[in-house]
Amino acid sequence: MLQMLSCPRCQGAGGGEGLVKMADSEDCVTQWIVCNLCDGLGQISRRRHAAVSIGKHLRDHRVKTLAVSLADLSTRLPTFTPQAVSAVEHGTTPFTSWGDVLELCIAYECDHHELLEAIHAAGDADDA
Ligand SMILES: [Zn+2]
Repeated sequence: MLQMLSCPRCQGAGGGEGLVKMADSEDCVTQWIVCNLCDGLGQISRRRHAAVSIGKHLRDHRVKTLAVSLADLSTRLPTFTPQAVSAVEHGTTPFTSWGDVLELCIAYECDHHELLEAIHAAGDADDA
């Protein structure tokens, strides 16, 4: 049984109202937009939740401390494409391995004490 947590992106709502431009007119209409993190479920697994937290931490560190763009980073880290780094930073699917997260963390020279705790807390028997 997976332990599910409230989705941090939509706060458990499964999505939110958003303005959508219609293809056949200049008008915008208000539409329900399904959350792309939880796919409208309003909940995500504990592991995914940890992945999102870790990714946010890594992104903040890259932007604020390293002050380097995804494109610049990919020239420094040949094993990661910008897409792969972006996926880790957003905790999105296909979620890469915890090894990738740790490798990125080390490459960022990021204090990863809290990341290791989050990984430990998330366990390893969860969704992929
Ligand atoms: Zn959501």
